[in-house]
Amino acid sequence: MRKFILPLLLFVAALCIADPLFHDVRPGYGVTSIKWLSDYIPSLKRTPGDTRVYVMKGEKPGANVLLLGGTHTNEIAGVMAAIMFVERATITQGTLYVIPWANNSAASWQGGSNYESSETETSPPQFITFETRSGPRNVVVGDRRTNPSHQITDPATYVHISGVEFPGFEARNLNRVHPGKPDGTLTEKISYGLFQLVKTEGIDMVLDMHEAGTKSRLSNTLVCNPKNIDMGAMAVLDMEALGINFKLEQSSDEFRGLSHKEFGDLTDALAFLSETPNPAQDRGKTDPDTADNPEFRLDRRVAVQVYTFLTLCNYLEMFTNKAIVIENMPDFDEIQNDLFRCYN
Ligand SMILES: [Zn+2]
Repeated sequence: MRKFILPLLLFVAALCIADPLFHDVRPGYGVTSIKWLSDYIPSLKRTPGDTRVYVMKGEKPGANVLLLGGTHTNEIAGVMAAIMFVERATITQGTLYVIPWANNSAASWQGGSNYESSETETSPPQFITFETRSGPRNVVVGDRRTNPSHQITDPATYVHISGVEFPGFEARNLNRVHPGKPDGTLTEKISYGLFQLVKTEGIDMVLDMHEAGTKSRLSNTLVCNPKNIDMGAMAVLDMEALGINFKLEQSSDEFRGLSHKEFGDLTDALAFLSETPNPAQDRGKTDPDTADNPEFRLDRRVAVQVYTFLTLCNYLEMFTNKAIVIENMPDFDEIQNDLFRCYN
């Protein structure tokens, strides 16, 4: 009997490791059902790439919108903005799909990987810890790329399905592998699942929330697929009234695998990507200060992400003839002044 115990324990341990990471999210009244990404690609089930999809369906039919945080799980303002919609928003018209951790495997480690390199030594992720009315909670700060223990051996060169080549470590970057493959790597399967969701649910607009280094050309930018650059321009003008100064940029034809390019080109959805400035992503940073840097405060960055999305939603009817109406989100200053009280 005893000789079966070790193999059994190893088997159970392997099963545990294969499960996705679970997070402290406290869904509010707006959430009408919770799905999994594996509902759209069954081979992701019970893998670290599976992730929860929060569905917030309004009584009145309207636009279907997908909000993504955690494509890069160290870009924490997008994750925190996504969680706030799940916990606080109610939808009266249309349906909102929220995925706070688009690449849930990336949330399970921290390798300090940046734009040009990728450490593959696995260290545990960090957490932002804060108090709410319902007690203390933690939000994970993970990595930019899929955990190398979930997707072994980067190729020397990653060749995107378009033929465009990237350094091998970008095979684990969800925002380089779109639209993915059903039988590909874990990262490609996650991407494929997101594309299946967009097609199956008839998504009209996708916003993929990111952050960039504070001196990066991309920080404070709204990147738009060319087909929705006019809508982006109108949103950016409106955002100025809130004191948000965003640049407008259009997807490049040569740079492939990015969400704003591939969702926009390959599906009916309008596709946007937002970037706020994150000091933890500055080059050479050894002590990531993602939450408390006074110049690039997390509360401000989350407020900017939330209101970029709400502003885009305001223009959706003008460009698609379908509306989404989102209510009960904290106002811009409330988020800026007391971020953590904006959660359940
Ligand atoms: Zn990013």
